[in-house]
Amino acid sequence: MNCVRFDGCEVYPSKIVCVGRNYAAHVRELENEVTDRAVLFIKPNSAIADDIVFRDDELIHYEGEITFLVIDGEFAGVGFGLDLTKRRVQDELKSKGLPWERAKAFDKSAVFSDFVAFAGDVARLRVELYINGGLVQSDGCRSMLNPPGDLLKDIKSVFSLENGDLVMTGTPEGVGAINRGDEFTGKVFDEETLLVQATWVVK
Ligand code: ZN
Repeated sequence: MNCVRFDGCEVYPSKIVCVGRNYAAHVRELENEVTDRAVLFIKPNSAIADDIVFRDDELIHYEGEITFLVIDGEFAGVGFGLDLTKRRVQDELKSKGLPWERAKAFDKSAVFSDFVAFAGDVARLRVELYINGGLVQSDGCRSMLNPPGDLLKDIKSVFSLENGDLVMTGTPEGVGAINRGDEFTGKVFDEETLLVQATWVVK
């Protein structure tokens, strides 16, 4: 089993619940439709990785996301997550109405910073992603179509959440391809206060 770090301890998520189409500008960017209720999908524990890995044979997009860690059914921690996506595969599956696992749930498709305890107002949380020093994604919970409180209630009506499970809350606009050697830095803020950040170089 793969683990993430929460306040210095190793935690083993049984699953990652992911939210699609949660920022209107990103929905437009991929020419999708806004849906009546949240688009949910799952990545398994086996998707978790410490590295971002480039592949010559696949177009892999980054999606930087505010990610919550669940304890006792509540969002107890927050971190930065990358929802890596085989975009051409996803487009093909979407066009045929087929499930997305091949595009979303593959090995090393979920990369996370450490998680830190957070008990403040989730509406204040913001995410930023920099590639090679340039800001490519920046937005926060106030722009979400399904804000964190509604999301948690909705998710729990479908899936039991175990301690350590993660919720990726969707990506703002600005997604794009990963390239070998790119330096990714993800940050999560409480308004202007930096809560957590991590840097990876694409292998
Ligand atoms: Zn995503």
